Amino acid sequence: MIDPFGRTISYLRLSVTDRCDLRCTYCMPLAMQFLPRAEVLSIEELDRVASAFVRLGVRKLRLTGGEPLVRRGLMTLVEGLSRHLASGALDEITMTTNGTQLAEFAGPLAAAGVKRVNVSLDHLDPATYTRITRGGDVAKVIAGIDAAQAAGIAIKLNAVALRHDNADHLVALAEWAHARGAELSVIEVMPLGEVEADRIDQYIPLTEIRARFAERWALTDLVRSTGGPARYVRTSEGGTIGFITPLTHNFCGGCNRVRLTCTGQLFLCLGDDADADLRTPLRASEDDRLLDAAIIAAITRKPERHSFDYGVKAPAVARHMSRTGG
Ligand code: SAM
Ligand code: SF4
Repeated sequence: MIDPFGRTISYLRLSVTDRCDLRCTYCMPLAMQFLPRAEVLSIEELDRVASAFVRLGVRKLRLTGGEPLVRRGLMTLVEGLSRHLASGALDEITMTTNGTQLAEFAGPLAAAGVKRVNVSLDHLDPATYTRITRGGDVAKVIAGIDAAQAAGIAIKLNAVALRHDNADHLVALAEWAHARGAELSVIEVMPLGEVEADRIDQYIPLTEIRARFAERWALTDLVRSTGGPARYVRTSEGGTIGFITPLTHNFCGGCNRVRLTCTGQLFLCLGDDADADLRTPLRASEDDRLLDAAIIAAITRKPERHSFDYGVKAPAVARHMSRTGG
């Protein structure tokens, strides 16, 4: 699959549910309205649509959400999709999780061929973590990270940089990650969907965060292209830190990815409303010809670049990150 701007689409992020056991302040409102279950693709449908993308050239699949580990039947999906790893059609199945249930799932995920997992962890202090996530228990997340590492799964930590909640803590979080042989990526908070908090107040540019890391370590830029908005540095003690800056960095030229929601809505760009309905062709016949044609047609409409902007009061993109998938 090659889009009109010459970019090869080889990476699918698949949201398996919009539901979550946490309510992170920057991600969703406390009284989040979840989608009616009838609209959500079944495990069999998720397998079919992911397999169509693999057939059309996707080499890397990331399961996300909402919280992927709260989706019933998730392991059936992962075990089913692992046939594409065995056949060589797929290079990697990864996941982004909040880690609250990772202790239970680490062994089965490793057995199904999952080698890397991103765990979102914004703070190590139990009370602050509970406040940011509105109810989460950081001890469970740490137990999940321990279990994943013991099962041989490489862990990358993701932290959203928040001016008031964790900007002063990110150096300590990086030290903690590096001491366990994990990388830390820091994410700029994005204007996705309405939440109670004021996004401009939450926002801190990662140039400020990088300056704080630079006070602690000498940083060397790494040349590593992921096709995404991440830039990496190596610290003078050998740890790796990523900076994910969709707002201040133009990464769109190398973009290799599309995102599918749990209702079968394909988003061609995280920061744009261009989409395509794949559920209708998926449900219209058992044969995959309509589905394949809908995917190929959608790729021709991938926007050249995102349209994020903090200059307006309303969110730049109305849907929450938990719908589109991280
Ligand atoms: N529940 C899983 C988790 O938290 O890892 C997967 C889904 S979550 C939507 C994926 C990632 O998006 C997380 O790392 C989360 O911190 C991040 N995220 C959520 N809302 C965001 C926002 N408005 N701006 C930037 N990152 C956001
Ligand atoms: Fe849930 Fe992840 Fe959103 Fe937090 S960031 S509310 S864990 S989906």
